[in-house]
Amino acid sequence: MSRTPGRRLAFSSLGSGSKGNALLVSASDGVTATRVMLDCGFGLRETERRLARAGIAPASLSAIIITHEHSDHAGSVFQFAARHRLQVWMSHGTFHALERKSHVENICFCRDGDTFAVGDLQFTAFTIPHDAREPLQFHVTDGNSKLGMLTDAGQITPHLTLALKGCDALMIECNHDVQMLADSSYPGFLKARIKGAHGHLSNDDAARCIEEVDRTRLKKIIGAHLSQQNNRPELALGKLKEAAKGSGAEIILASQEGGFGWMTVE
Ligand SMILES: [Zn+2]
Ligand SMILES: [Zn+2]
Repeated sequence: MSRTPGRRLAFSSLGSGSKGNALLVSASDGVTATRVMLDCGFGLRETERRLARAGIAPASLSAIIITHEHSDHAGSVFQFAARHRLQVWMSHGTFHALERKSHVENICFCRDGDTFAVGDLQFTAFTIPHDAREPLQFHVTDGNSKLGMLTDAGQITPHLTLALKGCDALMIECNHDVQMLADSSYPGFLKARIKGAHGHLSNDDAARCIEEVDRTRLKKIIGAHLSQQNNRPELALGKLKEAAKGSGAEIILASQEGGFGWMTVE
């Protein structure tokens, strides 16, 4: 995608965590704007409420992209897309796992390595290890800047480190603090699932990813999908700051209720 002077990539989270996730990405040149929602993990009304809070009318979205079938990501996607006549992208595996012969007319499929355009945004899907049928994460560019997204991954793989190379902004899961999870009252099977190779990234995993990824352009790091039981914001922040030391990158956390407000990488 060619570089376009005056175009700006912006993003905002409607909320991030095990109770629901939705990320807005926008490319705007001041005249036209492309807006896409990544994941639709809140209920229909709640999604509309949170969009209104971000100043976005549902009908102004160009598409919804779903990472995987877990309810904190796929939530109300079919209802929401049907109501507002929106295009939906997801993997075949995610579609089948949702077991909805969806009445959404405009459904598009993507898989690992696919690059596709929605208006002025170009998305690339990459596969990640997680306990879902065919989970994907994405990086997106408007031709000027690159935003990478990585949540719901059990481990850092060379494949995803390569996919996230050269991001200007990176949203990365800091699900749990290893010790807090070990000490928590969660049943053993759940602890094993969360910390397993197809579970969720710990603060340490996120820090390792920041250390390993090519971060020559990295200006913003957003810690996301924090567990409310097994993590504390200051622990996640501490690990990310330590990992990003010397890079000059700004570090922010996304919350379950507020997500984070609109930001750019300029
Ligand atoms: Zn999740
Ligand atoms: Zn998940």
